[in-house]
Parts: sequence; C-alpha cells; structure tokens
Amino acid sequence: MAEPFLRITEIFHSIQGESTWAGVPCTFVRLTGCPLRCTWCDTEYAFHGGTRMTLDEILADVRRHPAAVVEITGGEPLVHPGAFDLADKLLAEGYIVLVETSGAFDVAPLDERAHKIMDLKCPGSGESERNLWSNLEHLTGRDEVKFVVTDRADYEWARRVIRERGLDERVHDGSLRAILISPVWGAIQLDELAGWILEDGLPARFQIQLHKLIWGADTTGV
Ligand code: SF4
Repeated sequence: MAEPFLRITEIFHSIQGESTWAGVPCTFVRLTGCPLRCTWCDTEYAFHGGTRMTLDEILADVRRHPAAVVEITGGEPLVHPGAFDLADKLLAEGYIVLVETSGAFDVAPLDERAHKIMDLKCPGSGESERNLWSNLEHLTGRDEVKFVVTDRADYEWARRVIRERGLDERVHDGSLRAILISPVWGAIQLDELAGWILEDGLPARFQIQLHKLIWGADTTGV
C-alpha cells in the first residue's frame, strides 16, 4: 500500500505570533488547501499547489528545527484526514502540538493532548455559516477560541457567542484555556477594540499578530 501523504505549502521555524503561545519559537507545518474563503484571509497562497510529503518526510523536516512547539496550520488542516495522524506522530515524538483550525470541521478525532486553537468565524469573514458548533463540546482546558474581528458588528457577535454559549464561564472554571480577540490587521483601531473589551469586562485576551509587528504587515498569518 502506498505511504499516506499530505500536501504541504511550507514548513518553517519562526516566533509564534498568536494565542497564549505568542512569543515562543515554533515550527509551522502549513498544509495546502482550504474550502473556506474568509474575506480577510492572509494565507491565500496556501489554497493551491504545495508539495506531496509523507508523514515521515514531514517529521524529518520538523526535526531539522530546534523548537519544542509545532503548529499544524493551513489553509484548513483538518480537512485532511492525514492531519490527525500527523498530530499523533508529533505527539509521540514529544512535541507540544498546536492545531490552528477554522472550527468548520470536526475536531473530535484529534488527540486530546494537541492544543486546538479554534478560529470561530465572525460575520465579517463571510464564513460564519460554516462554524460547526458541536466542536465547542470537544474543547478542553488545553484549547483556545479565537475571534478575528473587522468591526463593531463582529465584536458584538463575538461577545454574544462568548456569553450565550458559556465560553466566559468555561474560561473562569478553567475548562477552556483562553478566548482570544484579534483585530483584522489595519481594519480596526486597536485602542477602540481594547476599550470595548474593557468596558464589557469580557474575559478575553486581546491579541495582535506579533509576527507582523516583528517582520511587517505583509508577513503571512500563522
Ligand atoms: S479558514 Fe483560514 S485559510 Fe481558510 S480562508 Fe479562512 S483564514 Fe484563510
């Protein structure tokens, strides 16, 4: 039987720019392909192309870098069944594994030891209908939920989801690691967004894309 493979856009070593892991050295494995088309997507180059690599070839490439943390990202990695096997293999080698996912695809098969960073799509993305709400049931104290907001309407949508779906309670009781609110780069005043979070007392972590501060706004997302 042919060895299973994944289509890979890039594997690179950098500073993690987002989530509670921001600032730590991290190896990124970017899988090719995404069925979504978020209006503000900054990784459109990962929609097509890529190189076929077996899981062993991917692991060998990851091992060339010194980081203890590996993020599986995309595109949308979980559209590929092999992404779950890749997470298993990385965990078996002792890596801390982060998985950045849109939340539109079932996360249930993912090993619980992997840290899910679930990017729930606000209306401004044009893809909020794709959120798979049953995924929230699979979030644990290792996992994080992210809202990328373009404007006040997106912020209010995120606030409603946080409260109505009890994410705020889950952060307080430790069964969810963090709620992240992130502005679309350049689309919204940072101090305005920070002010809304403070005014509402949301138990959210304001974040900006650190890698874009370090290397510039054209740097692609992680
Ligand atoms: S889910 Fe991610 S990769 Fe896919 S279109 Fe949206 S931002 Fe881009």
